[in-house]
Amino acid sequence: MTGLRAFAVFLAAALVLVWATLPARAATLIRDADIENALTRMSAPILSAAGLGGTVRILMINDRSLNAFVIDSNNIFLHSGMVARMDTPEMLQAVIAHEAAHIANGHITRRMTNLDSSRTLAGLGLALALAAAAATGRSDLAAGIAIGSQATAQRQFLAHSRAEEASADQSGVRYMALAGIDPQGAVEVHRIFEGQELLNVTRQDPYMRSHPLTRDRMRAMERFVAAYAGTFEPQPDLDYWYDRARGKLTAFVNTPKWTLARADESLTEDIRLMREAVAYHRLQDRATALNRIDRAIALRPQDAFYHDLKGQILLESRQFQPAVTAYARAVELAPSNALILGGLGRALLATNRPREALTYLEKARSLDFSDPLVLRDLGSAYAQTGQDGMAALATAERYALQGRLKDAEVHAKRASGLLPRGSGGWRRAEDIVGAARRAEKK
Ligand SMILES: [Zn+2]
Repeated sequence: MTGLRAFAVFLAAALVLVWATLPARAATLIRDADIENALTRMSAPILSAAGLGGTVRILMINDRSLNAFVIDSNNIFLHSGMVARMDTPEMLQAVIAHEAAHIANGHITRRMTNLDSSRTLAGLGLALALAAAAATGRSDLAAGIAIGSQATAQRQFLAHSRAEEASADQSGVRYMALAGIDPQGAVEVHRIFEGQELLNVTRQDPYMRSHPLTRDRMRAMERFVAAYAGTFEPQPDLDYWYDRARGKLTAFVNTPKWTLARADESLTEDIRLMREAVAYHRLQDRATALNRIDRAIALRPQDAFYHDLKGQILLESRQFQPAVTAYARAVELAPSNALILGGLGRALLATNRPREALTYLEKARSLDFSDPLVLRDLGSAYAQTGQDGMAALATAERYALQGRLKDAEVHAKRASGLLPRGSGGWRRAEDIVGAARRAEKK
């Protein structure tokens, strides 16, 4: 069926998916500049209240079920279902605050819920660790973190203890209050899961397994929150960004029909237009999609993310030169956004300008080493400009990021042979060879 295939291909191209996997099951990240901007705005005050400002980032896994978890001290993972399902930014902030507390209170190593997901997560941890090492050139770090997260994953099939859940609940509420955010959101999150306690495990959301929820815990949470009641300002700015993130996410993962039927419920006119632009784009109605995104841009001409979406629509409609123009405008407005820089690089590659593309792709990679799409495009740009050693290195790093260590090793060896001994690229290649060998020994 062509519709289904179009959907899968489109999703892969559009939301910039990362495959970080072991054979068991793929965990797929959704990378989108607009949605990540909203998540950053929502999480920043909480992370800073938790003493984790600037060190932790929020990544979104493409999964409709409800879950949130941590596997290391640098990343909080949210299922896209969680982002789509919460009613208010305060609810999502409560989820983030609870996970931040697991990091701040040192609960990370006790975290895995079952064999299946722990194998997936081990792949993700391994991949992120290798990517971090590839970026920093610290191979010891790579082997340590990679093997550590794998061993942890295999050992820990149990969720957090009740004591850890209680402490994370209490700390999470405190972070929210410190940040001036109404902690009532935490109680509302618990209400979503109320009743799932009695369901068969297979019918529960995975959040219930990773965060055992009991009536005692819910009563305790209500007491923590009551202690802070009544002193909080609304967050109209976050109401906007959260509605926009949810609107964009659902426009990509639900059917266009679903989106078009609900676009009118958007908080603002520009969000409605953006959601319709995505829906019409997925229906391959380019003219209407462009009409909608242009109208959204007219309402917010300085909004980098709307220009970014226009670039994406044009690129995926094979309008390469106009895509370059749209992405270039987005880069002007957000010159340090790795995902947007990657978009401009991709569009320039499509117009056969690999040298110009390299400028933006290298900058994108220096800001965010964990985007396999950028690594893939970097590989092409290096190959097209006759830099075979760097092309092999980009390919090796992309495989490492995806947890495909054997493939990574093959390309890293090739890169190491081609690059000048002792150069930065040569060292990165050697790090991957070393990390892959150590992982094989395990
Ligand atoms: Zn928890």
